[in-house]
Amino acid sequence: MDIVVATNNNGKLAEIRKILSNYNVLSQREVGADVDVDETGTTYEENALLKARAVRKYTDKIIIADDSGLEVDALNGEPGLYSARYAGENTTPDQGMEKLLSKLDGIEFLDRSAHFVCCITALMPDNTTHTFEGRCDGFITEQKRGEGGFGFDPLFWTPEYKKTFSEITNEEKNKISHRFRALNSLKEFLDNM
Ligand code: IMP
Repeated sequence: MDIVVATNNNGKLAEIRKILSNYNVLSQREVGADVDVDETGTTYEENALLKARAVRKYTDKIIIADDSGLEVDALNGEPGLYSARYAGENTTPDQGMEKLLSKLDGIEFLDRSAHFVCCITALMPDNTTHTFEGRCDGFITEQKRGEGGFGFDPLFWTPEYKKTFSEITNEEKNKISHRFRALNSLKEFLDNM
């Protein structure tokens, strides 16, 4: 079965290909969709759906899309939906991390609990939708640790490895990540179809 992934991000595509290895996973580019969607939704699910629907006119296959973010409890869930542009439009992940650290200044480690959320939507050929969510819990460190990963990885400490997401390998991260968990639920659904 063919599945099209609505993303321009090669890292995401590789991770999805690994988990959905029993399917023929195509990129949006491979079906001729050169689109880049504004994430104007008010929920992760709405944003994922916007990305999936933008690819519909290029293919009638199953399309999947995701949206994710970091939610910090002491900040009432910030940066949340705005994780990618926390410090403003066209800013770097480093600037987003600096903003997060300054907002958490003076807050003790145990009060710096946070989680990543990932929402994956499957837009079926008949245009019905199925949504899957994954979550990964941890704490925000007081300074960046490690070199790997992307986004907020250098600040996200996971109790499973007692390290930040930047200090562990991709393989280790992919065993526990919010994206892995959402993808696993999607795989279970597809396998049972
Ligand atoms: P999107 O789902 O590609 O729109 O990404 C949302 C934003 O959430 C990213 O730009 C990162 O700031 C943050 N984010 C989501 N997942 C992760 C992760 O696994 N590590 C670090 N940051 C993440």
